[in-house]
Amino acid sequence: PTNNTLQITPRDSINSPPLWTVSEISEAVNGRILKWGPPGTISTDTRTLEPGQWFFAIDGENFDAHDFVTPDLADEGCAGVIGNRVCENWDKGFVKIDGDTLISLEKMANYARNRFHGCLVGVTGSVGKTTTRTMIALALESLGPIYQTRGNQNNRIGVALSLIGIPGDNMRIAVLELGMSGKGEILELARMAQPSIRVVLNVGASHLENFASIEEVAMAKGEILVEARPGDVCVLNADDPLVMSLPVPIGVREVLFGRRFGCDVRLVVAESIDGGLGVKVVLENNKEMVEFVIHSPGLHLAVNACAAAAIAILLGVSLSQVGISLSRFVPTHMRSELEVARNGILIINDVYNANPVSTKAAIDLLKGIDCKGKRVAILGDMLELGPTEIESHEMILGHCCDACIDIVALVGKRFLTAAENSRLIERMNVIHASDAEIIVLQIVTKLSSDDVVLVKGSRAMQMERVVEAIKAMD
Ligand code: ATP
Ligand code: MG
Repeated sequence: PTNNTLQITPRDSINSPPLWTVSEISEAVNGRILKWGPPGTISTDTRTLEPGQWFFAIDGENFDAHDFVTPDLADEGCAGVIGNRVCENWDKGFVKIDGDTLISLEKMANYARNRFHGCLVGVTGSVGKTTTRTMIALALESLGPIYQTRGNQNNRIGVALSLIGIPGDNMRIAVLELGMSGKGEILELARMAQPSIRVVLNVGASHLENFASIEEVAMAKGEILVEARPGDVCVLNADDPLVMSLPVPIGVREVLFGRRFGCDVRLVVAESIDGGLGVKVVLENNKEMVEFVIHSPGLHLAVNACAAAAIAILLGVSLSQVGISLSRFVPTHMRSELEVARNGILIINDVYNANPVSTKAAIDLLKGIDCKGKRVAILGDMLELGPTEIESHEMILGHCCDACIDIVALVGKRFLTAAENSRLIERMNVIHASDAEIIVLQIVTKLSSDDVVLVKGSRAMQMERVVEAIKAMD
């Protein structure tokens, strides 16, 4: 039932993780307490470890975190260590585990999951997980405190830590992002998180280097649905044929969102308006509708919002409340973030990451922005695309051409090859450089105050340097 009178908990207290007692830790990991210590939260990274935390030492492929367990760590306030070998000169708490440390971390995550009796929403897809997860949490805000993935912790360690960090007491809803780079990973993450609401946003050509075809990528995303039980709900993007091709177990409820007619939660309007994006969503069962404005451009945000609406409706939020909440959405840092530089240039800062789907969406966004000056796309290579990578880069250049982008500045060897192949260099105003610093030198003289500049690229291309340089221009 809808309950809009519940108190909204102040943001700070929402994600405060639980303090694990030594007994709980040893029970969860089936370990032996060699030395007692005070209760604390859990970290796997000495670089970000805070005083009072327990350090879970992961013995990984590239390094063994037990090597970081030194008296210095104790001096920094570490409360204790969970590890599979005793570390020299360590006089704080210690819980000794047997065997693989990652498996023990997952045991702890399972323990945390089993004691959480709220509703867990798991979100996967090729693009938009973080954005949509943030929107879901926002759309649910009227239900009380909502726990969600911190940052981008969506891999094996990240999801385990997310579960371990679920606050105990009054937390009723957790929204977690599940990511993958290969087959079988989502299945493992879904087993650990056991979502009662399982969301698949889309399937795109990301991580293709680890898959033979996009159908295989779809199957891998679909692993989130495989072990859904009766009572669980699968929330699927009806506009994506690959998502719709995924089998949902018999007896499991399916909720569809998207633009297609017949969707349970249907996006009927998504249009660029002054100051953002006008959205209209209709519920199929009673034709109730809501209109709201997302104060951030980018048509792709509308479908993410529609997904968030579907989950909120499932959990009893009224459609009008969904509209009120989602109209307060602000983009996550470096994802379609609008920034005005000192000299008036409008920057679309989308440097967090890139793949063909999100880059195409970003170019559409650039095209749709009202602008008196030039439209400029500064694009870094998209990585991890496997054998079809050049084709994908050519597709993006074609899209820039169709969108009549005034200047296309490219960074990286994949875009260079693509530009040469497609001969687009002759048809568009294209410049190219091997890295972000060099493109800055080439582009600054070409920019003026009324321009709109999109900056995007894969994480490793460090396109944030371009954003910083444009912001620093006089
Ligand atoms: P990662 O796998 O790196 O964690 P993610 O799935 O969490 O990525 P986001 O960080 O939300 O995705 O967004 C990544 C990029 O995709 C951003 O540039 C964002 O603007 C864009 N994006 C978000 N949602 C969509 C969508 N539905 N369609 C296309 N692009 C999108
Ligand atoms: Mg993410």
